[in-house]
Amino acid sequence: MMKNINRLLAYSSGSENKVYERFFDVDHQQKFESIFCMGNGYLGLRATHEETYPDQVRGLFVNGTFQSASGSTVPELPNFPDIVGNEINLDGHLFDLTRGKLSHYKRYLNLSNGECVRKVDWELAGQKYHLEFRRFVSFAEKHLIAAQIKITPAQATTLTYTTSINGQVGNHGTQYFADGQQRHEKDDGLSYRFSGLDKNLDAVIYQLNTMSQDPEKVTASVDRRRIDKIYEFALAKDQTFSFETYSAITTSRDRDAIYHDPESLSHRARHVARAGKDNGYQKNRLLNSRAWKKEVWQVVPIEITSTNSLDQLLLNFGRYHLHVMTASNDDLTSIAAKGLSGEGYKGHAFWDTDMFIFPYFQYEFPKIARHLINYRYQQLPASRRNAVTNGYRGAQYPWESADVNHGETTPKWASFNIDTGKPSRIWTGEIEVHITADVAYTLMQYCAGLPEDDDYFMTHGLEILFDTAHFWTSRVRYDQQRRRYEILDVIGPDEYKEHVDNNAYTNYMAFYNMDSALQWIFNLKNNPVAYARFDQDFNLTQLQADLERITANFYLPKVNEDNILPENDTFLRLPDFNTSQFQNPAGDHLLRDMSIDTVNQYQICKQADVVLLLQAFRKYFTQKSVTTNIDYYEARTQHDSSLSYGSYAIVRARNNQAAQAYDLFHQAGLVDLNDNPKASDVGIHAAAMAQIWNSVVQGFAGVQIEDGLLKLAPHLPKEWTKLTFPIFWRGEKIYFEITDQEIVINNSGKAAISIIQDKGNIVEIPGYKTITCRY
Ligand code: BGC
Ligand code: BGC
Repeated sequence: MMKNINRLLAYSSGSENKVYERFFDVDHQQKFESIFCMGNGYLGLRATHEETYPDQVRGLFVNGTFQSASGSTVPELPNFPDIVGNEINLDGHLFDLTRGKLSHYKRYLNLSNGECVRKVDWELAGQKYHLEFRRFVSFAEKHLIAAQIKITPAQATTLTYTTSINGQVGNHGTQYFADGQQRHEKDDGLSYRFSGLDKNLDAVIYQLNTMSQDPEKVTASVDRRRIDKIYEFALAKDQTFSFETYSAITTSRDRDAIYHDPESLSHRARHVARAGKDNGYQKNRLLNSRAWKKEVWQVVPIEITSTNSLDQLLLNFGRYHLHVMTASNDDLTSIAAKGLSGEGYKGHAFWDTDMFIFPYFQYEFPKIARHLINYRYQQLPASRRNAVTNGYRGAQYPWESADVNHGETTPKWASFNIDTGKPSRIWTGEIEVHITADVAYTLMQYCAGLPEDDDYFMTHGLEILFDTAHFWTSRVRYDQQRRRYEILDVIGPDEYKEHVDNNAYTNYMAFYNMDSALQWIFNLKNNPVAYARFDQDFNLTQLQADLERITANFYLPKVNEDNILPENDTFLRLPDFNTSQFQNPAGDHLLRDMSIDTVNQYQICKQADVVLLLQAFRKYFTQKSVTTNIDYYEARTQHDSSLSYGSYAIVRARNNQAAQAYDLFHQAGLVDLNDNPKASDVGIHAAAMAQIWNSVVQGFAGVQIEDGLLKLAPHLPKEWTKLTFPIFWRGEKIYFEITDQEIVINNSGKAAISIIQDKGNIVEIPGYKTITCRY
């Protein structure tokens, strides 16, 4: 049954699993282009309409194909030539929903298989037509995009249908590709071969069409950066005509290919398009649906039994997008802040991947988690160079990342400062340094969950741990007067406070990073061979001395007499600010109303900062101070970053405040599915997608790692009667079924697993056994 989410959106739950656009309006088209984005981790395709409308933003992205040449100062994920735009001319009129009469409109994204469907009844000049559009990016054949359009005219109709490969698109006016080579191929295909201006990327798009009846006429045309094929048909009254398009994309950085020369790319693209055409739309869709099922939904079924069916839908929506945006076989690319759904943030990856998205893959798709952590490992050389450039030691991870070799890619200048009218300087690349500790933290979380016989930590992890700790030893400053080490001049997660000293989150994270490295230097002493090896590369004697001195005298901010943990040295001295006038339910940024310099002067937080620290280091705080701090900071938080609601949801759930957490979970889930027609224009919010799963599994089920053990401390909202999910832990797959008071744990692996419960008792589950416990 279909239910409304809000003014713009509806959904159908259960086996339906669909999200609907409730009506057509060009005003919200960009939002739907993003939230209905299709993809498979290799390709991402914005859900633009076939026909052209003003302000439409076409987008086709291939993961990891960053280009730095051209207008931009930092590398960017280039927008590939468009293959969606078609011209449909019916009886001499261009099909265009802003003209004529639209008597029926329905569009949905099927979350189970990523198929986007649109059905319309349209009338112009007394002629009536029913049109049906279907499209998906194949999960089975990662290089293939399939589309089908069906037209049923209510009268005999002449149709002129143009399909194209259009390289005239770019990234907001910037072109990253040189003029390509267009061809009308012998097999009736269209092909376009092109190269990046960086000269490091060759790519091919090959397109083949099939149709249910022969055309009266076919012509072809070639223009600069585009190639078209124009078909003319005479359609009979009330008969359904169908046209299918198979577009294949290959590039020289494909990880699943052996040969990368232009000839081989072309050959492969042709082969993929041909196989698509031979299979036909139905069969391709079947293969695609099967792949989604086999690779995603069936391996990791997560079910919420709730009085509100929206809960499951939100979770599915988040998970769908996580798989659309994340490569399953590529450790040279990370996950962009907007996934593969838009040009926002130039395709760069942030701490979003490590701190927010990674847990989903760690617990649910460990093979993909390995790729993501390997990306950080392979980024070590560039991060070492980054540290040197900034005058530090060890490895400083870039705030924004593109290729593993690029180093820091944060732009230095942003749009205008509303007070001065001049461009604003972006400082995040220089001083949002917590990212380095975030990488180390995620690494430690990851390695705690590896099976015993997996030596990734020894072969890769320790290098990250030592070099990031090394960075901090050079980033801290000693305060003679206070006799303590501090971290000065940073931006914490709350980017509404720039150039602050001792951001609590950063200090705790950096301390954890250094302290873990120190522990591991001691641990290594039991393994002289390994010790000698690491000593050679990292000078462990010196590192140990530095870490001992610094960690023994390091400043970790504590709660004050009111139980409040200061976000930084000055925060609590700032005046409060009445932000209600800016709390725009449409999710607009405060920075559109105030300059960053003004925002800096008040107790306004962009997002969870101290609260995130409470999530990561809960055990340092009493229950009372946790509650006080969540309340204090929530009242001052704008949630101007999409990461924010989920963090609050998790911390509230773990703090036994399930009712508040449940509201926050909905806010987190609606970051893109809200009724703000503009909120997702430049792409979906990748980390927010993960925050939905995080709220469910890390929040309500209370899955976390404590002292190297898996902890489960459920606090289900009263609306939920059951939550079931599997996770991978130490290489075994464990299924949980949480009900009102009981947890059924099924260890499907052979090794025994220990789980700590909320009150600290440890439950042992032998291999191949199911046990039931109360909580
Ligand atoms: C973000 C920063 C980012 C900057 C430049 C800002 O909107 O908050 O994290 O570094 O844009 O991309
Ligand atoms: C947030 C950052 C985030 C970035 C990319 C910014 O608005 O403040 O925390 O990393 O967006 O999502």
